[in-house]
Amino acid sequence: MKAFNVALDGPSGAGKSSIADVIASRYGLTHLDTGAMYRAIGLTLHNQDIPAKSGKTLDQALAGIDLQIKDGVVIVNGQDVSDQIRQPYVSALASKYSALPSVRRKLVVLQQHIAADKGYILDGRDICDVVLPDAEVKLYLDADPEARAQRRLLQDQAKGIDVSYEDVLKGILERDEADRNRKTDPLRISDAAVIVDSSHLSFDQTVETVCKIINQTLLKEA
Ligand code: C5P
Repeated sequence: MKAFNVALDGPSGAGKSSIADVIASRYGLTHLDTGAMYRAIGLTLHNQDIPAKSGKTLDQALAGIDLQIKDGVVIVNGQDVSDQIRQPYVSALASKYSALPSVRRKLVVLQQHIAADKGYILDGRDICDVVLPDAEVKLYLDADPEARAQRRLLQDQAKGIDVSYEDVLKGILERDEADRNRKTDPLRISDAAVIVDSSHLSFDQTVETVCKIINQTLLKEA
């Protein structure tokens, strides 16, 4: 089979990352979680007291950040931040700093470089239209906010993070709003994407639906 890329967009908590992991292993792809990259940059800039504002200070700070991501391990300037970036407060930091055009430029270039040789599934918000406009398969994974909050709550609890359903739902709605309304590369449903609404699907049903779309799309391309 010819090497191909899968672009997977969708709002917070839709299950993109878990689905992408399974799809990656089924099709022999490498999963790149672009949200993890925004989380790592947001956390680092916050820890360096860099205001979320465009300008020289931000650009200099970004130039000093070396971000590496491999097999789910995220390293910033030699330090493993993989666990830290999953803390709920980092979600809001990622959303805030990801609205800045120079943050996006840095990460989009890095993501395009990583996926240049094909054989990747990238999940994020702007993958179909901005990062991988030439991806062979384009998907938008959706679910209603309540279903997403419920899933995120279970994930957080499994990690031992103490949060309430109300707080998780509030965080999801705030991030939806910020991600959809930012000026640069907002979250939107690409005209080229096939939509999968997983609100009433189990995890396995969602995987099967996505696989069906991938198989049909690749068959059409062949
Ligand atoms: O996917 P995840 O929830 O980990 O992403 C954290 C935040 O990073 C999102 O709320 C969004 O603001 C930002 N993000 C983005 N573009 C991407 C991936 C994530 O703006 N491709």
